[in-house]
Amino acid sequence: MDHKTVLISLDRKDSCCILVFSDNQKFELEYLDVRKNCQCAKCKPKQANDKMRIEFEEEISRLMLVKPKVEQIGNYALRFEWPTGCSSGIHSFEHLRKISESTGKKL
Ligand SMILES: [Zn+2]
Repeated sequence: MDHKTVLISLDRKDSCCILVFSDNQKFELEYLDVRKNCQCAKCKPKQANDKMRIEFEEEISRLMLVKPKVEQIGNYALRFEWPTGCSSGIHSFEHLRKISESTGKKL
């Protein structure tokens, strides 16, 4: 048995998604916040320090929010695919849980 946090359900809305984890914790998470914390090769360097992070967040906030495509990777991660410049971001369940706890809304 492993005690890792597993995502058991994902409900995609227009601007956010509802995530349910294996410990029955449920969060509402904005796609914008997922994107702001993207760990892909393109987005991650833009979060290197606070100044860059602020610029990166402003850049993202200016983009039209488009509902991303979501694909599950094995049983440990999701890949979010945005038409606006980010398509290879792999978000592990643990990472999603961390963002959910820091920026999401607990339901
Ligand atoms: Zn990215």
